[in-house]
Amino acid sequence: MKIYNTMKKMKEEFVPLNDGEVNMYVCGPTVYNLFHIGNARTFIVFDTVRRYFEYRGYKVNFVQNFTDIDDKMIKKANEENTSVKELGDRYIDEYYKDADGLNIERATVNPRATQFIDEIIDFVSELIDKGFAYEVDGDVYFSTKKFGDYGKLSGQNLEDLQAGARIDVDERKRDPMDFAVWKKQKPGEPAWESPWGSGRPGWHIECSCMAYKLLGKTIDIHAGGSDLVFPHHENEIAQSESRNDAAFARYWMHSAFVNVNNQKMSKSLNNFFTVRELLGKYDADVLRFIMLSGHYRTQLNFSLDLLDSAKASMERLYNAVGNLERFADENADEALKEGEQAYIDNLNAFRDRYVEKMDDDFNTADAISVLFDLVKDINININAESSKAVVKCALDLLRELGAPLGILQKSTKVSLEEEVEGLIRDRQRARKERNWALADKIRDDLKARGIILEDTPQGVRWFIKQ
Ligand code: AMP
Ligand code: ZN
Repeated sequence: MKIYNTMKKMKEEFVPLNDGEVNMYVCGPTVYNLFHIGNARTFIVFDTVRRYFEYRGYKVNFVQNFTDIDDKMIKKANEENTSVKELGDRYIDEYYKDADGLNIERATVNPRATQFIDEIIDFVSELIDKGFAYEVDGDVYFSTKKFGDYGKLSGQNLEDLQAGARIDVDERKRDPMDFAVWKKQKPGEPAWESPWGSGRPGWHIECSCMAYKLLGKTIDIHAGGSDLVFPHHENEIAQSESRNDAAFARYWMHSAFVNVNNQKMSKSLNNFFTVRELLGKYDADVLRFIMLSGHYRTQLNFSLDLLDSAKASMERLYNAVGNLERFADENADEALKEGEQAYIDNLNAFRDRYVEKMDDDFNTADAISVLFDLVKDINININAESSKAVVKCALDLLRELGAPLGILQKSTKVSLEEEVEGLIRDRQRARKERNWALADKIRDDLKARGIILEDTPQGVRWFIKQ
């Protein structure tokens, strides 16, 4: 498998540190609001990366953090007159609702920064002991000059960065590029006791510390949105490699941003979409399709039109699933018919093509094209006359190739309950419109299938005649 490594600016063969295992860390949300479609792209992309590794037989340890203490959390908690802890608890619950709704697999661990305060304090102390960090009146800064490789991920050197940072000179720092690893408590802020007085961790340190505690000194993959390359990931590298004397991550993956109608998404431009509002109207399959139908390193331009075209595309794929499900129910013939073994071999070639695309830096866009080719082929070659064996083979393949993308896993079959409840509603409507003929027909058709409707004062009840 090949992965584009931001650190090397090229695709590289993926070789895990431990055979058959992938340790990956993804920077997760700050839990102070519902997440938006930009965040959703990042979460869906790395969920797909994880699922595909699993499909290829790897065991994946997937860590995605919740940032539950920072300036935004504190501001929002103050505005809502609540505690940072309560705000975090609430939006973590909301995160799971939307992530589950998007069919995102639960992480192996979702650590919260505030659960690792002792470990973070130890981490900071060691940075100070090793001379990489210094305290100034209750704040602790990382000394970027001490880390010779500073800038290696974003491809910038310290001199250029320093020149650009002049405007933001803070007298307390020894160098404008130094960044806070521990922040002194300000009035009204939540804080924890530390060797430097009451305070709280800086943002970057939580990821360095939790990745180390949960996955070890060197991890296979570190990932996040492209906005995090600098300074967040650059600073994580500086902290982790200074403390651990080991490479932090072997591969750095970054997903490109989502824009809306070619503009940056923002509340003031009124082009801001939360996952919550879209999930009310569109299926998880449709939203995942949008996020995966382009390459993850290409910016995605979101629009309402895109939702409708993705919906139509998913319907085309599910139509094939529906036909196959029907044939599988209706066709009794288990044995392969003449020529069908050759057709099964032909189906397997689609799997090879799909794997080739996905192995090439998770090219979901091309993998989805293979799915459409497969569906076209199935529509031409499989019909009501096909044997059950070949129908099942095609259906299993569609589901198998949909699984790493988190799509095509639903059944198109309506349960008996849903069908009968729907017909009862139709009958009620017919009666209200005084269309007695239709109402009677619905009841008689059901009766012919052994389903009896009973009108009671509490409403219509139904049962299956034994
Ligand atoms: P945040 O809650 O802002 O810290 O973001 C959580 C994750 O979503 C991070 O990995 C960000 O890089 C990513 N992210 C934020 N905004 C966008 C966007 N517009 N497009 C894609 N990814 C984003
Ligand atoms: Zn992070």
